[in-house]
Amino acid sequence: MKTVSDYFGSLVFDDRAMRASLSAEVYASLRKTIDEGSTLDISVANAVAEAMKNWAVSKGATHFTHWFQPLTGITAEKHDSFISPSPDGSVIMEFSGKELIKGEPDASSFPSGGLRATFEARGYTAWDPTSYAFIKGKTLCIPTAFCAYGGQALDKKTPLLRSMEVLSRQAVRILRLFGNDTVKRVVSSVGPEQEYFLITREMYDQRPDLRFTGRTLFGAKPPKGQELDDHYFGAIKPGVAAFMEELNEELWKLGILAKTEHNEVAPAQHELAPIYTTTNLATDQNQLTMEIMQKVAARHGFVCLLHEKPFEGVNGSGKHNNWSISTDSGVNLLSPGETPYENAQFLLFLCAVIKAVDDYQDLLRIAVATAGNDHRLGANEAPPAIISMFLGDELNAVLASIESDTPYQGAQKTQMKLGVDVLPKFNRDTTDRNRTSPFAFTGNKFEFRSLGSSNSIACTNIMLNSAVAESLRIYADRLEQAADFETELHEMIRKTIRDHRRIIFNGNGYDESWVKEATEGRGLLNYRTTADCIPHLLDEKNVKMLTGLGVFTEEELKSRRDILLENYCRTVVIEANTMINMVHKRIAPAITRFTSDLAEEAAKKKALFPDLALKYESELVVRLSALTDSIIEKSNQLETAVRGLSEAKDIIAESELIRDTVVPKMSELRKPCDEAELLTAKSYWPFPTYGDILFSVK
Ligand code: ADP
Ligand code: MG
Repeated sequence: MKTVSDYFGSLVFDDRAMRASLSAEVYASLRKTIDEGSTLDISVANAVAEAMKNWAVSKGATHFTHWFQPLTGITAEKHDSFISPSPDGSVIMEFSGKELIKGEPDASSFPSGGLRATFEARGYTAWDPTSYAFIKGKTLCIPTAFCAYGGQALDKKTPLLRSMEVLSRQAVRILRLFGNDTVKRVVSSVGPEQEYFLITREMYDQRPDLRFTGRTLFGAKPPKGQELDDHYFGAIKPGVAAFMEELNEELWKLGILAKTEHNEVAPAQHELAPIYTTTNLATDQNQLTMEIMQKVAARHGFVCLLHEKPFEGVNGSGKHNNWSISTDSGVNLLSPGETPYENAQFLLFLCAVIKAVDDYQDLLRIAVATAGNDHRLGANEAPPAIISMFLGDELNAVLASIESDTPYQGAQKTQMKLGVDVLPKFNRDTTDRNRTSPFAFTGNKFEFRSLGSSNSIACTNIMLNSAVAESLRIYADRLEQAADFETELHEMIRKTIRDHRRIIFNGNGYDESWVKEATEGRGLLNYRTTADCIPHLLDEKNVKMLTGLGVFTEEELKSRRDILLENYCRTVVIEANTMINMVHKRIAPAITRFTSDLAEEAAKKKALFPDLALKYESELVVRLSALTDSIIEKSNQLETAVRGLSEAKDIIAESELIRDTVVPKMSELRKPCDEAELLTAKSYWPFPTYGDILFSVK
């Protein structure tokens, strides 16, 4: 029998495959490019391309593609076959270094937010050697960045790589100050926990809302939902287990370290967590994971829903971004150390994150903003739209003692000194878990929990890396100039705690009173919707930081703001149109059929038994007829709201109209429809109910 270690990574051109197929010289120079970002010589590229192709062909591949992540949020690929004609009429399989390094997809229909005028429609893709090539189906996929000819980034990977670079540069400066002369790079790592729903294809096919929008736009609460909490960590059903088994196999072949899987709170909801890896790899792998989940689901007669809120009244799906930074020799910089000196360094990195999250709350909020996630953030299941941090009791006590200059009496009851009488020693926290915090310290990493399940993790990590790099830059500037390193260090840590303590919140983030305290008491931001937050991408401080570090140009930021808003508007308009369509084509006709049958039956009874009151029939007919009128009226109002969007003078105005008119009209329309569903006989209702869908998987 084949064991996992036999096939793990078998479809990845990873270090093992490179070593096995490249000459020592070529391998060494490719390794240098991967590890240090040095440029690749074309002769080396040719040799790598040849080896990659031979490896891929031996695994059955016939095509190659530059695999990239345009701003649509999904991945894109255009396949070219390796074949090249031979004079004798046969074909040979060819792949050159040039084809490996650069591709020119016809990019005119990818969103560019005005960056790429249509007359220069061609962008180009450039190989990212730091993420391994892999085989999907019969295609060799080469991870690439996607840029316009002017050099502007048209994808999520380019700024992600830039953000990793700037974080590394600033963190290395800090480590040098702490006497580390050997570190060359600092890398950020991520382990994204992915939630999803699994439902049967049969149910999915009968719901136009699921098919067109990924979520249900109608649906009354089922008699049983998640009240009993009996699904969480419950036994996995056989059909689901078979799906998970095959999913793991596929992911393992692609070198993705799928590790844990369990049922989530809602019925039909599950989670998959991989072991963490370097951020850009984790990003590529998370995109692949989402894609493969959907493919494998299809083979099992399921549909995997990645929408943030497929069912109203039932928990939505998120993604937890576990993030940390470590040196090239694997030392986790967010792990409290053994000695006071290490702890001082740890505290500085911790402070860098605290300052980053407070200064750039808005960017973290923007990174997770989509129409789908608007339904989730702030509902009683996901962290609120307000960004705050949880550190745990022990770290809080440490920070408080530094702030007030009082000795720290931690769990260890020891108090050590760093040169002068400054920073306390403490050990790794046995932190109590706070499940309601959007941004929680979990011992040696931070867990950012506001991401929606369908979000690319790229955006979050671009903002996180950049904001932390900015804190570190400011610290390094000061420490490099300091007359006395230890005094300055102590002062800076104290000042950070003092200036940014408002972002630290250890209470219940789901509590009503928190919103008031956070916004009125502490002045934290509360951008409730996508339309509220996205325009702030261009706030002066944000543009200054992101362009100052070289992660984005101002032009790129403008284009991204527009694309994000366009995405929001389009998504909601599609939902609104789907609702209107379902009302007219299905819901209203179904109710009418039911009521007229009822009336007919009642008339028959009346003819036979003239004295009958026929209360049930007559009341129901009256109630449902009134509901139908209300449904049509509200549907017309929604239509008017959608038509009104053409009045908007720009995309910001349009997104505000969506938020203020279209979205509220959609909720209004939904209410009478859901009420009618509960009153209409099962056999008449035109699509499966929540109960049918959520409990359909065996
Ligand atoms: P739990 O949340 O139950 O404590 P773990 O601590 O094992 O579970 O981790 C949850 C996720 O965090 C996993 O995906 C794991 O790989 C990831 N993780 C653990 N350590 C790090 C790290 N240093 N950097 C980034 N992610 C990490
Ligand atoms: Mg978690």
